[in-house]
Amino acid sequence: MQLTDGVNTLAGIGPKKSDALAAAGIFTIGDLLWDFPRKYEDRNLRGSLSEPSEEAVTVEAIVAKQGTVVRTRKGLSLFVFPVEEITTEGRVIRGEAVWFNQPWLANAFQMDTAYYFYGKVAVKNNRRQIMSPQFAVVGGKDDFFALKPIYGAIDGITSERRSKLIAGVLDSDVEIGDEMPKSLLEQYDLLPISAVLEKSHRPADRADLTAAKRRLKFEEALKINLGILNNRPENRPTRFHIHNFNQLKPFEASLPFALTPGQLSVLSDIISDLKSDRVMNRLVLGDVGSGKTIIAVACSYLFALAGYQSAYMAPTEILAEQHYENFKKFLEPFGIEVVLLTGHLKTAERNMVLEKIASGSARVMIGTHALISEGVDYYNLGLVITDEQHRFGVRQRGKLGLKGERPHTLVMSATPIPRTLALVLYGDLDLSVIDGMPAGRKKIKTYFYGTKALSKIYDFTEKELAKGYQAFVVCPFIEASEEMSEVRDTERVFEEVKTYFAGRYQVGCLHGKLSEAEKTAVIDAYTKKEIQILVATSIIEVGIDVPDVSVMIIMSADRFGLSQLHQLRGRAGRGDQQAYCFLVSDLRNDKTIERMKVIVNHNNGLDIAEADYQLRGPGDYFGFRQHGFPDLKALDPYADSDLIAETRQLAETIMNSHKADMITYRAKVLTEFYRAVEISLN
Ligand code: ADP
Ligand code: MG
Repeated sequence: MQLTDGVNTLAGIGPKKSDALAAAGIFTIGDLLWDFPRKYEDRNLRGSLSEPSEEAVTVEAIVAKQGTVVRTRKGLSLFVFPVEEITTEGRVIRGEAVWFNQPWLANAFQMDTAYYFYGKVAVKNNRRQIMSPQFAVVGGKDDFFALKPIYGAIDGITSERRSKLIAGVLDSDVEIGDEMPKSLLEQYDLLPISAVLEKSHRPADRADLTAAKRRLKFEEALKINLGILNNRPENRPTRFHIHNFNQLKPFEASLPFALTPGQLSVLSDIISDLKSDRVMNRLVLGDVGSGKTIIAVACSYLFALAGYQSAYMAPTEILAEQHYENFKKFLEPFGIEVVLLTGHLKTAERNMVLEKIASGSARVMIGTHALISEGVDYYNLGLVITDEQHRFGVRQRGKLGLKGERPHTLVMSATPIPRTLALVLYGDLDLSVIDGMPAGRKKIKTYFYGTKALSKIYDFTEKELAKGYQAFVVCPFIEASEEMSEVRDTERVFEEVKTYFAGRYQVGCLHGKLSEAEKTAVIDAYTKKEIQILVATSIIEVGIDVPDVSVMIIMSADRFGLSQLHQLRGRAGRGDQQAYCFLVSDLRNDKTIERMKVIVNHNNGLDIAEADYQLRGPGDYFGFRQHGFPDLKALDPYADSDLIAETRQLAETIMNSHKADMITYRAKVLTEFYRAVEISLN
């Protein structure tokens, strides 16, 4: 047997089962082994009928009487067995073992005999119940307490069946070679992969799982670092030299506000990069509203005065246009020409812009992807700034960099990740964090209401509008396949809001179906306050900056991710006014309430990301796949961020090693990495 053999070569796996396995991504025997259990049942966790439990626990109890079948109102038949638990103090706790639709259990028990029951304990109508427990007679076969692996569901193949299949493979003569050099396993006291598989699929105890997990995590952390290091730009000398730092003074003096200490510290990081005469590769991380744009403006100002061009790449056309207006406002007084390049310019206009870029008369270019499209010929592109909001985007970054002669790069991001993790994920960049918000910024007061409260919310909004402020009403963005219903939703809300404010305030509507020109017109009117209320899809999430918004109403708020809600809310209260955010949803289940509470109670992106992460679990939270990292099976980037940091040094050593085993390992890992990148790009 070989790891590369198809699963259909295993006994009992015919075409149907092998198709089911293939649908779950399991093609070969190797795939079967590397698909680890989703979780383990641990029946060593003891509980009592006196304590309701979140998780299944083992309760030792005596079956006291024959069970009875009870019909529920929903037409289920409940099979209820009275049981008695005897506590260590000799107290008797009476309860019931309950199963759904399984009357055949009637003959499964001997009366007055002690059994182990493994299930969740609940109290219903004052009755203590253990729900659908698995059971074994006390003193019977002892593998009841072995850790039991539970595999993800696959059609027609139970978890038990999979356990048996895997056991068959593990007991066969299959050869399981280790990718990791032996010297590393020894140095870091890691299990060889064959032991990892054995201990993961057939653990004797928790210590086995810990040891297996440790090796897997270590290796994944190491691989992430190898991938990042491989992608790291070289620390090359630059030909774009900046010396005019004293010219920042007049720039700062021209601003309508003083820069915050956080902004100043980022600027000083950038200045020392530029003074080093090496190519700058810096990431600026700052929560929504922390004021990243002005940093970008300041840098392009310095470059322009030194005679170099800067390109600023925004994620959407709307944002590019907004930033264009912004940059112009700050830079034109200094005689710096700013141009806008998007995909929707008319040919004549586009040609004129391209001409200005090629001749160097335009010093600052704002745009979208169009900035990196064919036919854009820069005169002397010295600085590239990308605004990624909360996206990574390793590839685009690289591409824009290729356009000039290794320009300096700055990446702006609002990705709420802990600093330790940012250091690793953006390991190819130096990191600056904007700490703190501009002075006078108030915490946005946030509330969670049902749709019944909408007229009260609109009344409240009207009072804000009367003070000269503006409002957003956001509807969920729906996948393209359902685009029409998105439009319908948005338009329905639009009509409702328009009717409510008819004759008093102007309402606009913004959704994905509008043309770029129409979108621009709506945003323009809103920015100029010709429109006071803007009903929009989450299209506005990505960073629109309108200073006088004091009300943000988010419809069907339950449909949004928490970080997305935070981003949306950040569109309000961008000046020193008190702002309000209303999360509207009629869902009242525990999960929704808990999620909305996170937004109501927290105002900081990092806290929200962390709470979101706690609620959702690791999964592919950081979109590792999307960024070309291989799938993570064991590593939890949040909880294990220390491990990621710790393995960085080892990754450096492996990258620079001339030892044969290290070279082989490096090549294997990087090949896997590239394969993952390719898959993620398709
Ligand atoms: P983000 O970090 O979300 O991109 P922006 O750069 O758009 O934030 O800034 C948000 C708002 O704060 C803008 O209206 C901007 O003009 C304003 N702003 C930026 N820096 C300061 C500051 N130091 N003091 C007061 N307002 C500021
Ligand atoms: Mg921004």
